[in-house]
Amino acid sequence: MSSGHRWPATAATVLTAVLLATQPAAAGPVTAPAQAPTEAPITLAAGERALIRFQLPDEAAVDRLLASGADVAARPRAVPGAILLDVVVDDRELGALTGGGATAVQLIQRESDGARRLTESRTVAPAAADTLQFLQAYWWTTGGRTFLQTQVATTATDDPDAEITVTWRTASGATGSYPLIRFEDAGEYQYHYALPQPLPAQPVTITATSSLGGTSRAITPQAWPGSTPPALPSGYQKDFIDAYMTPADISARIRRLHRQYPALVDVIKLPNKTQGYRRTASAYLGDPAAAAVVVESVRFGDEGMNGVQVRTVDPGRPNRALGASYRDRVLTVRLATDAGGKVISSTDEVAAFITARFPQRFRAFVEVGSAGLPMPVVAPVRLDDGLEGTEVPRGPQTVQALRIGKVRDGSRPGVLAYSQEHAREWATPLVTLEFAERLLANYATDPATRELVDSTDVFIIPTVNPDGANYSFNDFNFQRKNLVNHCTGAARDPRNRDSFGVDVNRNYAVGSYFDGYVGGSPNCLSGTHAGTGELSEAESRNVVALATRYGNIRFSLNVHSYGGYFMWSPGAYKVPGRVTLPRPSIDESKFFLDSAKRIVGAIAAERGTVTWPAYTGPVADVLYSAAGNSADHLYYDLGITAWNFEVGNDRWNDATGQWEGVGFQPPFDEAQAEAQEYAGGLVELVRIARDQASQP
Ligand SMILES: [Zn+2]
Repeated sequence: MSSGHRWPATAATVLTAVLLATQPAAAGPVTAPAQAPTEAPITLAAGERALIRFQLPDEAAVDRLLASGADVAARPRAVPGAILLDVVVDDRELGALTGGGATAVQLIQRESDGARRLTESRTVAPAAADTLQFLQAYWWTTGGRTFLQTQVATTATDDPDAEITVTWRTASGATGSYPLIRFEDAGEYQYHYALPQPLPAQPVTITATSSLGGTSRAITPQAWPGSTPPALPSGYQKDFIDAYMTPADISARIRRLHRQYPALVDVIKLPNKTQGYRRTASAYLGDPAAAAVVVESVRFGDEGMNGVQVRTVDPGRPNRALGASYRDRVLTVRLATDAGGKVISSTDEVAAFITARFPQRFRAFVEVGSAGLPMPVVAPVRLDDGLEGTEVPRGPQTVQALRIGKVRDGSRPGVLAYSQEHAREWATPLVTLEFAERLLANYATDPATRELVDSTDVFIIPTVNPDGANYSFNDFNFQRKNLVNHCTGAARDPRNRDSFGVDVNRNYAVGSYFDGYVGGSPNCLSGTHAGTGELSEAESRNVVALATRYGNIRFSLNVHSYGGYFMWSPGAYKVPGRVTLPRPSIDESKFFLDSAKRIVGAIAAERGTVTWPAYTGPVADVLYSAAGNSADHLYYDLGITAWNFEVGNDRWNDATGQWEGVGFQPPFDEAQAEAQEYAGGLVELVRIARDQASQP
């Protein structure tokens, strides 16, 4: 209810004064002209108060009105050329305002409306109860088992003790319920959810209830994804992958496809060579558990530095200064001595001396814990890069892309699929290569495939990060990043070798760590190290170069593993406040979701794997904030409709009643199945590109 009249008795006079001084005060009219001449004028009975929206002549009038103590209820959004303000006025004040140049444009609510509103409010739930709303409610059947997944939002966003339960009922009357889990992200309440729940049959009604007393409307869950791809003709060829593939295997496959289908395939060499499968050579000079200096080559180990020897010697004479020589691939450091011939060099002195004396050849730093200790005499140790792969070429690599299409002149809508930004995600190149093979192998025999390949322009980068992939295959299978080591000083310790590198998918230039977004790290040893700056890495520059050079690319899919996600922008937010990159428009969001349902349906067609509705959506909402990821760069900077797969969906274990993760390098049969189903998803993306291009 209104808290009473806040204006002084002379309000009408004051209001006239605070408005346009150039206009004479009108002589107390109680009728004001409405905004549109066809509408009835807004009038008040004598002494009646009402909430009215006014259009004011200028900002200064607003400021004066506020300063006068007027009962201003709201400041509606500005419209071009108009300043709107909602004010509680009586009949005299209404007259004064309109006489002063204001226009009453809407009578929002009369004083007498209060009693009626109060009556209406009796049907509303008690104030303590929260309001519940289903954000998602989907069911599906896979492998003979029906699942239900729900997300519910409560208005009790700040109450961590609010417990929400979903109750379901099937057509035969079976019922059950399950609790939801509160989900917060970056300190902000998002919603309550649960993993997909097994049900005996399709649910026909579900309701959510809260421990605070709230009850949702009963709703009927929708079928997910509610889309199936066109049936494949008999004789459709698939299953072209026999084993996990190293970068060398992938290069060979690219060469073979080019040779086999010369009319349909170009091979594009991307412009930025990678560092290569290489690393500097280093060794501990001394015992790292006692006192040691790390000596490292400036050049890479394969550039003649593997096997170089380093030693310290006691000169055997008094009063010698610290000295060093490098001869015949042996670095000899002669330690300093005092007047009695005792060795007196410290670790710090030796490290600094080596770095200063041979800046083109060596750098050295004190091992953590060895600072200020006497430098021991050390028998020769060999520098080594520690790389185990003997069959891997060491030099910089050219990253390759396949271009597939009948007409490859930029006139057809382009689709870009790229995989293995993250080295350890071994299944991902299998997805993109299976996809390439399907388009090419079925071209001659399947009219639908031919029509697709004739009407689109498909670009595929099977491995964005071949150096990291080689390291993952030969040295450390969980390698995620590339092999470029940006660490300085003691962080370059060889014990950190499995933590060097840049996270390629955090090195792009939109919503990056460098822009203040969450999910990338400045720490060179972090799994999400963002690099030394946006696009500091050859790998990320290559993806941007391809997407920029071929301006007909309208759609992209960034293939990662694992977890079974299908995502789009925004992919990052800032804290505090969890401020995401701009949301797509409502129309665009609908296109993202509608297309996602088609692609999820195509994935499911292969072996029934259903990507969960809760894992289908913007990256920042369904996974986490990934500052500087490639899809955000392609979407916001280049206008490409950019998606992300996380292949490798959790599998339902009926015996344990649990969802089980598959990991980065599952047994090959699982990886092969992932390649099949997600290649089917990529083919559906090409259909979407074709369909979009054919629309006006
Ligand atoms: Zn990844």
